[in-house]
Amino acid sequence: MSNYEELHKYKALHELKEEMEKDDSLPLKTKETKLVFGSGNTEATILAVGEGPGRTENLLGLPFVGQAGKLLDKLLLLAGLERKEIFITNIVHHRPPENRDPIPSEIEAYGVYLDKIIEIINPEVIITLGRFSMAKFLPNVFISGVHGKKYEVNWKGKNIIVIPMYHPAASLRNGNVLEMEKTDFVNLKQILKQVENDRKTKEAESGKQSLANSENSGKVEVEQIGLI
Ligand code: URA
Repeated sequence: MSNYEELHKYKALHELKEEMEKDDSLPLKTKETKLVFGSGNTEATILAVGEGPGRTENLLGLPFVGQAGKLLDKLLLLAGLERKEIFITNIVHHRPPENRDPIPSEIEAYGVYLDKIIEIINPEVIITLGRFSMAKFLPNVFISGVHGKKYEVNWKGKNIIVIPMYHPAASLRNGNVLEMEKTDFVNLKQILKQVENDRKTKEAESGKQSLANSENSGKVEVEQIGLI
């Protein structure tokens, strides 16, 4: 459970967005760039993290609304997901000039806010889109070796499932990558089912455990009463 009660997540994200809007120290903030904070279901258990806004995202202030976003919508459907069920954000939240890769100091500056988004959403699963968001959770790996697989990561004391995926823009450029990515999203459906089953088993076990504890504490009370 995060420090944020479910009903307060929307408000907390809204306040964080306002704080970001006022932060003039953000390195990619210019007169031409609009903040692309993130969008989707604030109660989501799945968070997708991309790279950074492109031209269309900068115009609309929303993540993944251009060509790569259209492909992402189709890929999510292969996994049985609709965009409105998840929350989507990026590694950097202003458009890098000419869509260049974000540099480490930029990733670090925006990372302060991304960490807060993760803390508020408190996701069970993070889907990384591309190598920059992958590297945040799985450093020192190559996407070619890990894409589509499930990793359990201890993120600031909490276990989160991280599933690295190719960036949809890479799939738009390369048909082979697209085929791999389609397969990964089809398989994602099964992975998510398994994550849900594991959670239900854990919940049932902890339910049994707390029932056993309360039965035990009842016993102790009876014994204590007997001792008096
Ligand atoms: N590519 C990204 O990584 N993020 C977006 O929001 C759009 C395109």
